[in-house]
Amino acid sequence: MQVEFKNEPFTNFSLPENKQAFEAALAKVESELGREYDLIIGGERIKTEKKSRSINPSNKEQVIGIVSQADQALAEKAIQVAAQTFESWKAVPAEARSRYLYKAAAILRRRKHEFSAWLVKEAGKSWAEADADTAEAIDFMEYYGRQMDKLAQRQPLTRIPDEDNELYYIPLGVGIVIPPWNFPLAIMVGMTTAAIVAGNTVVLKPASTTPVIAAKFMEILEDAGVPAGVVNFVPGSGSEIGDFLVEHPLTRFISFTGSRDVGLRINELAAKHRPGQKWMKRLIAEMGGKDSIIVDNDCDLELAAQAIVTSAFGFSGQKCSACSRAIVHQDVYDQVLNRVVELTKQLTVGDVRNPEFYTGPVVDEKAYNKILEYIEIGKQEGKLMVGGEIGPDSGYFIMPTVFADVDPQARIMQEEIFGPVVAFTKARDFDHALEIANNTEYGLTGSVISRNRAHLEKARTEFHVGNLYFNRKCTGALVGVHPFGGFNMSGTDSKAGGPDYLLLFTQAKLVSEKL
Ligand code: NAD
Repeated sequence: MQVEFKNEPFTNFSLPENKQAFEAALAKVESELGREYDLIIGGERIKTEKKSRSINPSNKEQVIGIVSQADQALAEKAIQVAAQTFESWKAVPAEARSRYLYKAAAILRRRKHEFSAWLVKEAGKSWAEADADTAEAIDFMEYYGRQMDKLAQRQPLTRIPDEDNELYYIPLGVGIVIPPWNFPLAIMVGMTTAAIVAGNTVVLKPASTTPVIAAKFMEILEDAGVPAGVVNFVPGSGSEIGDFLVEHPLTRFISFTGSRDVGLRINELAAKHRPGQKWMKRLIAEMGGKDSIIVDNDCDLELAAQAIVTSAFGFSGQKCSACSRAIVHQDVYDQVLNRVVELTKQLTVGDVRNPEFYTGPVVDEKAYNKILEYIEIGKQEGKLMVGGEIGPDSGYFIMPTVFADVDPQARIMQEEIFGPVVAFTKARDFDHALEIANNTEYGLTGSVISRNRAHLEKARTEFHVGNLYFNRKCTGALVGVHPFGGFNMSGTDSKAGGPDYLLLFTQAKLVSEKL
């Protein structure tokens, strides 16, 4: 019997022993940079001629790893192996499947700093952000293991005499798991292990910019004894193998987390029936966000400014939950804006290998160019208060940027930038603030900073987002505490890390026997 689920604690890096341990982990990782990583299909390691280089975004010269790339023939092989393995894996009892997750969580906990160090190097996460990502990965496995244990129990049906009725949650089949790069460990681990603990087999296509951390996680699954073929590791470009995997008739479900445009494309492709396909594919799609913090006139203004800065600039704003819109009541607008500018000027930007830097780089050249384009648009649409320029050119650094007096319909208020850019807009009153907050096509996270109980209650029902927070930042959902997922163009609201999540990877079968 497992102990009750508890979130993995974050590491206190102000303690010298933790700092030292993390330095040692970074040194270990640095001694392993530039290695080659293979595909893993049915436990077999496969090298390909075509390879991609994963680069340290803080230091463009540094190669993190060189990763073999699947073509369509190898993607086909991965699906075939996953389909064969499903026949045996689905018969493994649920509690045995959970135990693989508990074991993998224990191994990851032991190698925690090492994995966080890979996140610093490959994704440009600061120490604290990397530590939180690894902790979340551990949480997902501990949590989904326990959720599977619950789902496998006798279900509460209305019992009638003379019949034996049971409801079973059985797996779906082969799933394609397509995670994003911004939580390259936590989200990838959560999506993959939820699918397998429910009894499915997986073809995992890691995000193109962060394949090494995913390859390292494959080592953990192997160490934990997860049978070959249950998770098949198939790095490759979204355009080359993505459509192929999604369209394949043996694909039973697709679990995707990423941008709106790719999500919509997958939705369209997955909906089309292919010859030989015996089911309607299920799609779990968690997509982008354009998240707001509303600041009311009666509130703790310091808390409001801190919440905006933390939510906008943590991990350089590269979170689907990041605050990119500050909607501030006209009475307190200037005060909050000035304080946010002051706090933003204090943020340190640089190579996050050094723990002094709060803000690291953005992930790659494509993101860098896109964010800089939005900054130019912002200069037309609002008043640049701070930032708006690049940082050190050794990496993809962009200075935290604040725009003021932006129209609620402006592009930088509507489109996901996914970088360290926040736009301020002035609201006449609280109702106006709510109206602005709901005016995007997204609906992922949001916060309200207010002491007015009536306003909070109004927001509770009318602020249309999947994760709504009061008097705190809008980032930082904890597994089991804040089930996570969004409305509208933010996706299918799967509520990862919540009690309903595993149902998405199962189908319920009722067996009724007349006695
Ligand atoms: P992306 O859409 O560019 O890529 C996501 C994944 O899809 C990657 O693995 C990519 O290789 C793959 N892909 C690309 N084209 C494909 C295709 N044609 N077929 C199949 N797969 C394809 O997103 P990203 O840049 O990796 O991640 C950032 C986005 O993810 C942001 O929009 C962010 O808001 C969103 N996100 C959402 C959540 C959430 O829970 N809602 C969480 C994290 C990130």
